[in-house]
Amino acid sequence: MKNKILCLLLVFCLSFCLAGCGQKQDYIEKTSENISSYTIKANYNDESKMLVANQKVNYKNNTGITLDEVRFHLYPNAFRQDATFKAVADKDATNAYPSGKSYGEIKINKVVANGKQVTTNVGGQDQNILIVPLDKCVPNGESITIEIDFCDLLPKVAHRFGYTDNAVCFGNWYPIACVYDNGWVQDVYCTNGDPFYSEMANYNVEISYPKYMQIATTGNEKTSDGIKNKTTVANAKTVRDFAFVLSDKFEVLSTQAGDVTIKYFYFNDKNANQNLQIGAEAVQTFSKTFGQYPYDNLCIVQTDFLYGGMEYPNLVYIASNLDQTGQKQVIVHEIAHQWWYNLVGNNQVAHAWLDEGLTDYSTALFFKLNEQYKNEITYEKLVKTAERNYTMFVDVLESFKGGADTTMTRATHQYKTEQEYVCMTYTKGMLLFDSLAFGMGQNKMQKCLQNYFDEFKTKTVKPNDMIKSFGRTTGTNLAGFFNNWLDGKVTIGVA
Ligand SMILES: [Zn+2]
Repeated sequence: MKNKILCLLLVFCLSFCLAGCGQKQDYIEKTSENISSYTIKANYNDESKMLVANQKVNYKNNTGITLDEVRFHLYPNAFRQDATFKAVADKDATNAYPSGKSYGEIKINKVVANGKQVTTNVGGQDQNILIVPLDKCVPNGESITIEIDFCDLLPKVAHRFGYTDNAVCFGNWYPIACVYDNGWVQDVYCTNGDPFYSEMANYNVEISYPKYMQIATTGNEKTSDGIKNKTTVANAKTVRDFAFVLSDKFEVLSTQAGDVTIKYFYFNDKNANQNLQIGAEAVQTFSKTFGQYPYDNLCIVQTDFLYGGMEYPNLVYIASNLDQTGQKQVIVHEIAHQWWYNLVGNNQVAHAWLDEGLTDYSTALFFKLNEQYKNEITYEKLVKTAERNYTMFVDVLESFKGGADTTMTRATHQYKTEQEYVCMTYTKGMLLFDSLAFGMGQNKMQKCLQNYFDEFKTKTVKPNDMIKSFGRTTGTNLAGFFNNWLDGKVTIGVA
């Protein structure tokens, strides 16, 4: 009798928990049924710094037209010695290559489409695109299986893709389908910003690597031990990309943010506990403010990285050379990208301000909502710094170059310098959202962001989608406001 009651209680609790957990992920689950899936088996050799892989893509044609080919980005080719659009700008070479220049690439060994081996073409502007012709067209709404055998050679470089003495980074490492938007979007690599654009897909990735290493990865992972190697199988549903990092130096801390497990992988950090803590607070704050983080895990990973940090789904890079305040800001910034890049996606090349500006605004907002950091970082301080940096930049250009182009509508490669790109997308982008929040009030602004997130989660947006969504929430036509900022008509002064 007692046992029966216990049993019933257990069943009740279990179903409650499952319903609760399920609810959070419903839309992730539902979306996953109608998108492409990547199944990758990869073997990493740490001596040769090579990864050999077999990738099966169940490509779901959601383009709206019948396709006679599918195109994939080959981002590792930007690390070739003879790349025209190099991953590393000349001015950054010393920092990126502390032990001298080193090059990498991706080699396509074999492609099978619809069960038949096909002759493919590695093309694009800079060997950055794999074109897979299909002998049988795929109508819209149908799927095709494409199998690709490839091999990555890693460069020794402090970047998204490459190794250093501390870690081996696999960001943008496999052929990923181009987005089709009135034609294949096949931008080349660019040293300004994140030159990526992809759609949601599912991943099942099996990685085998030396036993002395540890892995941080996108998705939910399970690791088993072999004699010399470990094998990790990672599953991720409805994510925009898949990344992982290996290291023989990792120490790992973990904590919970509600039912999300936050892990911090680091090799050199005296403030590891605090950094894990702020990561968990970021997930909690953004979940409450924009909408629930729908995945089980988030890995914060310290890497040697030329820039401050980098966002991938469920996994963010944090550069190893940051000071304490820098670490906090970068962790919060990269985690905000889980909402504004991964869950709500956009073309990061064409409309960088959409994700970077909103992410920088979200970072400032985090410090407004978490006053425990007020002695170090505040919303007001971040906005003031942005205003000062922006004004100084524009002043210098006006004094010495006879004028400044302050439009934000340019693609990343159209900005003349990295400084100009950062100023117009991050800095001015953040000020745009700050000005909007000032105008409509904090509560309305949060409502705008919640509705925008809810409406477009798992989708990709263009600027107009945001402008219209915010307009619906506020009952105001905001096109004039946004266009003044984007077209460079707004003057920003320091009070
Ligand atoms: Zn960013």
